[in-house]
Amino acid sequence: MFNLVIFGGPGSGKGTQSAKLTDHYGLTHISTGDVLRQEMKAGTELGKIAHTYIDHGHLIPDQLMVRILADEIDRLKEGANGFIFDGYPRTINQAEALTAMLEERGCKVDAVVGLEVPDEELTARLLERGKVSGRADDNAETIGERLQVYHQTTQPLKEYYIREGIYRAIPGTGSIDDIFNSIKAEIEACQTHPTPNA
Ligand code: AMP
Repeated sequence: MFNLVIFGGPGSGKGTQSAKLTDHYGLTHISTGDVLRQEMKAGTELGKIAHTYIDHGHLIPDQLMVRILADEIDRLKEGANGFIFDGYPRTINQAEALTAMLEERGCKVDAVVGLEVPDEELTARLLERGKVSGRADDNAETIGERLQVYHQTTQPLKEYYIREGIYRAIPGTGSIDDIFNSIKAEIEACQTHPTPNA
């Protein structure tokens, strides 16, 4: 099993790069944002709850999010070579829960790839995406809130994973293929030179 967290602000390219990584390494992609959007589309109870947070750019509470992730892992684990976690974790509590969940299954987070993109570029990308995505949260006001939440609550995870020795910073600007090649190089380096506590 090789488990990867793809980390970065909203609009940093996590979904795009996850799709390429899934194809290349045969990993199983779990995007918590996609799971929540499917629930909203299907009009489930969970979807209705998710709406109230997502529309304001706020995070779904940890307890609920951890349960959703555990269900996804259980649903997809059969035959999986490893997972790409996209949009999860977003808080330290979620990261600790992920470590525990993987430990129970005899594995761990092997690498965290952080796509680093300046805020102005994130905003420009999200506004552009909003013209076609149909996502209620890709509008100027909600984007501002999402970036604030990212800096306050999610970005501290970078330090957390640096301390764990598994954070790999990737410049998230430039062409999609160049970014993908940088990610591949980091993954290959970490498979060749595992961290001391690996
Ligand atoms: P994303 O597609 O990853 O940008 O997620 C869209 C929205 O879904 C976020 O702005 C949050 O409201 C919610 N969401 C997705 N993943 C999480 C998570 N791990 N924790 C809390 N909220 C989440």
